Amino acid sequence: MTSIETDHYKKLLETERARLHDAVAFLEKENAGSVEEELGEISGRGDDNHLADMATATYDRELDEGLEEGAQNTLGEVEAALQRIEDGSYGVCEVCGEPIGAERLSAIPWTRLCIDDARRLA
Ligand SMILES: [Zn+2]
Repeated sequence: MTSIETDHYKKLLETERARLHDAVAFLEKENAGSVEEELGEISGRGDDNHLADMATATYDRELDEGLEEGAQNTLGEVEAALQRIEDGSYGVCEVCGEPIGAERLSAIPWTRLCIDDARRLA
């Protein structure tokens, strides 16, 4: 892979890394307090809807935790891909050793697998 190409993917990865950092920071800020505190606040209101509100708050919190975990996992893959660019192994399938297609790298710049192995292992 030429340095021009790796520069292109490096930019894509750095953009994605910044976006993921923002997403994680936002989710962490959204859920700064503990779920117990949040539910305590809702139940303390004692209005008619507090049970429904508590269920919604619990669901939202679980959804956010799943999103944050997903973002953290992708962030780890993005960092690993940037490391592969540094050590020169970027863009090579970790299963078959063949080059990963440019279209696939543009779509998922942190991918470790070619399309065939990704499908086979999915
Ligand atoms: Zn492969």
